Amino acid sequence: MDGQQSIEIPLLKSSGEVVIRRREFDALLVERAIEFGAVFQDGIPVTSLQRVQGEWHITTAQGVIGSAPFIVAADGRNSSVARHLRMLSSPIRDDRVGIQTQIPHPEGYDGALEMHLYQNGYGGLADLGQGQANLCLVSNAGAMRELRKEAEALYKVNPAIAWRSIIPISRPQARSVARDGVFLCGDAACVVEPFTGEGIAFALRTGSQLARILISPRESLPGDREKKYAAAHRQIYRGKLAINYLTRFLSQHPRLAHSLAPLLFRFPGVLSLMARKVIR
Ligand SMILES: Cc1cc2nc3c(=O)[nH]c(=O)nc-3n(C[C@H](O)[C@H](O)[C@H](O)COP(=O)(O)OP(=O)(O)OC[C@H]3O[C@@H](n4cnc5c(N)ncnc54)[C@H](O)[C@@H]3O)c2cc1C
Repeated sequence: MDGQQSIEIPLLKSSGEVVIRRREFDALLVERAIEFGAVFQDGIPVTSLQRVQGEWHITTAQGVIGSAPFIVAADGRNSSVARHLRMLSSPIRDDRVGIQTQIPHPEGYDGALEMHLYQNGYGGLADLGQGQANLCLVSNAGAMRELRKEAEALYKVNPAIAWRSIIPISRPQARSVARDGVFLCGDAACVVEPFTGEGIAFALRTGSQLARILISPRESLPGDREKKYAAAHRQIYRGKLAINYLTRFLSQHPRLAHSLAPLLFRFPGVLSLMARKVIR
């Protein structure tokens, strides 16, 4: 939607899109990991990793907690592992910020996933069930106050509501996703544009591919697992990042996005194609 016009794009029936509150989803993941034997230590960030004789020594705020031949760094878009081990490429110029909150269903809301092109950025509204919806906004740094006002007016949001901020919105893709037994997963390796709403699916896919590679007894030569994971990682993102770059560029230039919007409304097939490409 761009304020004047809106367009409906049916998602693929087989795509299995679901919306779930993040805290419930995270709790479910933790529960399953513990069921499978993981030891979960909450609120104790890893502060450093050191390689000693082929093993990684892991230090947290509470001191050295152990060592392991492999490290899976699924520590998100601000990955300290990727930073400390210099696995990232040079920074990209992007000063956008994101904010997120939960609101009661706006009047007339039918539960569809809504993406909105505002004058000052973009935003998404997704149904969470039980009359609640998740509202996310992304804008260039100086424009968030105005964007918030636009969204508050559109959805009649109480201006006193609490928002959670998310930065950075994007980050350079890791120069290498696997090195010397350290494997980057999800956002730690590659951040996808929130507009596509597929970040969690990518994080899960990279995680499950990596798990298969790590438990496979066949990779015996040093570096084999790293090579295999790097290839699988490339495959997972192949053909998907072009839309990522396009949506990022348009979101950094909301006026340009607005002037292009009428074209997309005239040729809705382009939007369907983009949606299919991302979801598949
Ligand atoms: C505004 C916005 C809206 C979005 N909307 C959607 C959406 O609708 N759908 C979707 O699929 N994706 C969405 N995304 C993207 C999605 O949030 C991410 O792609 C996804 O969370 C990545 O998962 P992850 O496990 O890689 O990282 P995260 O979910 O960020 O998890 C990383 C974890 O590592 C922990 N951690 C960090 N540092 C350390 C440390 N040093 N030691 C120990 N633990 C550490 C963190 O506490 C956190 O629990 C959105 C993103 C933004 C910014």
